[in-house]
Parts: sequence; C-alpha cells; structure tokens
Amino acid sequence: MERRASTTREWMNSISSDCVKGFFKRNLFVLLTVAAVALGISSLDSRASGKMGVRAVIYYMVTTLIAVFIGIVIVMIIRPGKGSRDSPMGNSGNIAPVHAADAFLDLIRNMFPPNLVEACFKQYKTVYKKIVHTRNVTVTLNLTDSLNVTESNLSVNLSRVLHTIQERVEETVPVSGSSGGVNALGLVVFSMCFGLVIGNMKQQGQALRDFFDCLNEAIMRLVAIIIWYAPVGILFLIAGKIVEMKDLAEMGSQLGMYTVTVIVGLLIHGLVVLPLLYFLVTKRNPYKFIGGLLQALITALGTSSSSATLPITFRCLEENNHVDKRVTRFILPVGATINMDGTALYEAVAAIFIAQVNDMDLNFGQILTISITATAASIGAAGIPQAGLVTMVIVLTSVGLPTEDITLIIAVDWFLDRLRTTTNVLGDSLGAGIVEHLSHGELQNQDAEVLNSVMEE
Ligand code: ASP
Repeated sequence: MERRASTTREWMNSISSDCVKGFFKRNLFVLLTVAAVALGISSLDSRASGKMGVRAVIYYMVTTLIAVFIGIVIVMIIRPGKGSRDSPMGNSGNIAPVHAADAFLDLIRNMFPPNLVEACFKQYKTVYKKIVHTRNVTVTLNLTDSLNVTESNLSVNLSRVLHTIQERVEETVPVSGSSGGVNALGLVVFSMCFGLVIGNMKQQGQALRDFFDCLNEAIMRLVAIIIWYAPVGILFLIAGKIVEMKDLAEMGSQLGMYTVTVIVGLLIHGLVVLPLLYFLVTKRNPYKFIGGLLQALITALGTSSSSATLPITFRCLEENNHVDKRVTRFILPVGATINMDGTALYEAVAAIFIAQVNDMDLNFGQILTISITATAASIGAAGIPQAGLVTMVIVLTSVGLPTEDITLIIAVDWFLDRLRTTTNVLGDSLGAGIVEHLSHGELQNQDAEVLNSVMEE
C-alpha cells in the first residue's frame, strides 16, 4: 500500500511539475529571456537621452535595487520556507559550503560565458569532490546541488564497500543542462548588452526593437495559453500533498508566511522607503502626494496592470498633484513597463522562498545572481497581470532552482500581483514627482523660450 501511495505521489508530482518544467525551462526560457530583457533595456536606453531621461533611469535603477535588497533581507529574516520537505535537488545542507570567493568567481564566469549557445545549457559551479577508496576501486563523487549524494545516503549505498572517505578536493566544472544547470545569468547579461546597443542605434535599431516586441508578445500569448494549465498543476500538487497529508498544513503555513513576507516588504518599500526618498529630494510631504494618487492606486489594485492603470495615473498626477505634463507624458509610459519595484521585490522573495522550501542554502554569489536577475526580470516584465510570474523563470533558472516550484506560489499570486502592481504604480508616480522637482530649472528655461518666441511673433 505504501509502495502504491508513493507511486501515486510520484505520478502526481510529475504531472504537476515535469510538464511545467519542460515547457518553461527548456523551451520558452531562452526566447523569453532574450526578448523580454533586450526589449526592456532598449526602450530604457532610447529614452534616456537628455537630463530628464538620465534622472529617470537613475531613479528606476536605484529604487529597483533597494526593493530587491529589502525583499532579500525580509525573506532571510522571516524565513517563510524553512523546515520543509526534502530537496528534490539534493540535500545541500550536508554538502560542504562553497567559499564566498569561489561563489563570486562562479558568478563572473557565468556572467560572461565564452560560448553563448553553450551557456544556454551549461553553467559553472564550484563542486566538492569526495574521493572514496574502496577495496579495489577509487570512486570519485561530485557533490553538487544537482546530485542527490550526501554522506548519509552515500554510506547507505556504499556501506558494504566503503572503507574511508580520505580526502576532499575542490574543482570548478561546467554543470551540464540536464541537471538543471542552465546559465540564465549569462543570457541575461548578454540580453542587457544587446538591448543597450539596440537602444543606442536609435532609428536604425527600430526593426530589431519591433522584432523583439513582436516575439515578446507572441511568447506572452503562448504563456497565457500555458497558464490555463496552471489550475491542473495546482490541483495535482494539492492532491499530491493530500496523499502526504502531513505536508499539507505545513505547505499552507509556509504559503501564508510567504504572503506575509511579500506584503511586509512591499509596505516597507512603498510606505517608508519611497516616501522618504521623495521627502529627501523634494522636501515636500510624500503622504499628501500619495493621497492625490489614491484613485490610481485603487485601479492598480483592481486591474493588476500598470499599463491599464496608466490613464488614471496620468490624471491623478496632472490634476491632483499638478505634476508637469511634459514630465508625466515622458516618464510614466516608460516607468509602467520597466520600473517595477514591487515586481523586483516579489521576484527576489519568491526565489529565496523556493530555495528555503527546497532546503537549499544559497551562497553569496547566488544571492547576488538573484539580485541581478530579479532586477532584469522586473525590467523585462510587461505591465500586465502576472507578467512577473512568467519572468520569474529567469531568476529561478539562474541559480538552478526548480522552475516547476512556481506552481507552489501560483495559488496566492492573483492577490500578490495586485499588491505589487500598486507598488509599481506608486514607484512610477513618486518618480515623476522627484524627476519634475530635479528638472525644474530646465522646464522653466523651456517655458521662457516658448514665451520669448511667442513675444517675438
Ligand atoms: N502585474 C504587474 C504590473 O502590471 C507586473 C507583474 O506581474 O509583476 O505592474
């Protein structure tokens, strides 16, 4: 009976995870990364000309990085995924820790892969080897995250032949794709550079921008179809957990804590950090400014879409907060697609939560990788519902986390999406206020020029 139950469990798990894994990780991942990130960065670069654009880009980058940082700190403190199930990726707790210097070198190696095509299937990882001397053979085991080899199961498997574990040597090896070692970071860095160049090409680069725009749209539509599958995945996931019964309550409480973690992070960023930044730059009351945005924030909460909220955001900023139209018309459309503090924070929290659920200890290099890819993934996400959930594949893949575990958080994503979209809209709007304040001199000069030319006529 126990055997049959475990077969059923495996079958359910494979339905809930392997299909998603295969589809997202192997087929869509490369296209999604290149199209979304290159497109996001190119639109950023093509509008960054001029002082106002540069100020906006600096604001976007700084606030997004702060959001990611807050997300990482909060999820590390609360640890919503701790005390969980066995890792499908190996019990990393028993593996000797990778040194910070090694992790950093792995990060650099992965950022600049010598062969980009190969990088889609390989990443570098410092592994620890155990050389096991048996009666007449020497067995060398690579202790990577992707090999489920630990001292305890090693002794079970080899107990009869094992004499001693004599030495441990370190080595850097490429980890092949079959074990989950897709080098997302290399692809993200390449796509960012590519996007920068396309953006710089101005008119000449338009054809490529259109191409990526179209590709991105096609992938999003494809993903929308796949997302129809999600309820089936969740159904089997929950059914699998019911079979295991003992895990169900734990899963519920982890998901609850994860939701609380994201909410706390968003509240700190949206109601403390961003207003403080606004106050420091403008010396005005940020909460009065936020009061003027209420309608836009409620619309964001209701639609889960920064783009759909855009007309209301314009109205609130221009009519209630009296922000100059030349600023809002320039800043908001870009902000709605590339400045997503809420999404970046959520992506970092979700990735680390999934690592915790899998009992996987992340080293410094992996956390840095999550910061970079979460930023890129938020830039790449469109201002539409659940776009962040899709681009999260980039973050998870970059550190070898199981993409199928997205199914774990899908159940609460409809709710968290609303909250992160509200934070995204808030970030764009406060950014418009800050950029207007900093560009005051130029705007006045422009006004004077217009006035002069009218007077001359
Ligand atoms: N729904 C979000 C937005 O429109 C994007 C996301 O899914 O994170 O801003």
